[in-house]
Amino acid sequence: MMKQERSSILLIYTGGTIGMKEDPFEQTLKPFDFSQILAEVPELGKFAHKIDSYTFTPLIDSSDVEPALWVSIAELIEDRYDEYDGFVILHGTDTMAYSASVLSFMIEGLTKPVIFTGSQLPIGSPRTDGKENLISSVEIAAAKDEEGHAIVPEVCIFFDNMLMRGNRTTKINSDNFRAFRSENYPLLAEAGINIRYNSSAIIRPKEWEKTPIFHKELDTRVSILKLHPGITPQVVEHILCGKESRAVILETYGAGNAPSKKWFLNLIHKAAEMDKILVNVTQCLAGSVNMDIYATGKCLKDEGVCSGYDGTSEGVLGKLFHLMGNSDDNDIVKSRLEDNLRGEISK
Ligand code: ASP
Repeated sequence: MMKQERSSILLIYTGGTIGMKEDPFEQTLKPFDFSQILAEVPELGKFAHKIDSYTFTPLIDSSDVEPALWVSIAELIEDRYDEYDGFVILHGTDTMAYSASVLSFMIEGLTKPVIFTGSQLPIGSPRTDGKENLISSVEIAAAKDEEGHAIVPEVCIFFDNMLMRGNRTTKINSDNFRAFRSENYPLLAEAGINIRYNSSAIIRPKEWEKTPIFHKELDTRVSILKLHPGITPQVVEHILCGKESRAVILETYGAGNAPSKKWFLNLIHKAAEMDKILVNVTQCLAGSVNMDIYATGKCLKDEGVCSGYDGTSEGVLGKLFHLMGNSDDNDIVKSRLEDNLRGEISK
């Protein structure tokens, strides 16, 4: 049962299409300031909730997002945690799945909603999807149950009427309003006439009264090797065995399969000998890695390649950044990869 009471929400504006308008000289979209967004969405004033805003400078197209911004967002939420009941982050769609994934790992024991949203069309444009996304995100961030607890105390993405767990999402469409998918995990809520919450899918904290732990250390020395027929030994060696990376995500075929050719397996062996953290993630949008089905997957498992299970590349990347930032011991990172930390894998 939902309780209607006045909540306080912090809107955090980082940039993205939602707040962009056309630069008449260059004819490209550039971010504008937050007061203009609010002027475009007078509906926000109709909520009984207290809505404050915080704008990052410079405002960015999310293609420019850097780990420093994730740390700043985590610090901002930590500083204002007691003041607000929920947080809505306006963010470009291009890297929203990455930011939502990493933030989900940076905050442990979350008791309040952190909702990422944005839009495909700028908020000032007549057919914008931004208004709907913003208004519903605020409503979800403010929603509490009978006991006064947040209904969705998770890091989520709200887009096109769907509320998804942040670390389960992928951007799948560059021009459709249905820009995000969460193929391997059910929606946390769906907005129609009412917002229907999928209570059984939502993670709740063990202790509501406990302050979350904010982990701000990230180690981003990860590369991604996307397999494709015709890939050469030189390219694979460069990505797998380069000194600069501590971990490599292997984007494999189907249920986690890779070429069985000797040269490929030798390079996996070489990377494992170099103590690289290797993680197997499927290129498929849905389904899971299972390295026990085919001989090609089994060879990877025998070399100590970790399974990414049914996680997304974005989710595994965020998990690695977080785990590696918190430990210099690769064995600890590998063993923690097996754990379901924030609902990012079904295990
Ligand atoms: N390029 C934009 C961004 O990610 C796209 C968007 O917001 O939809 O910032």
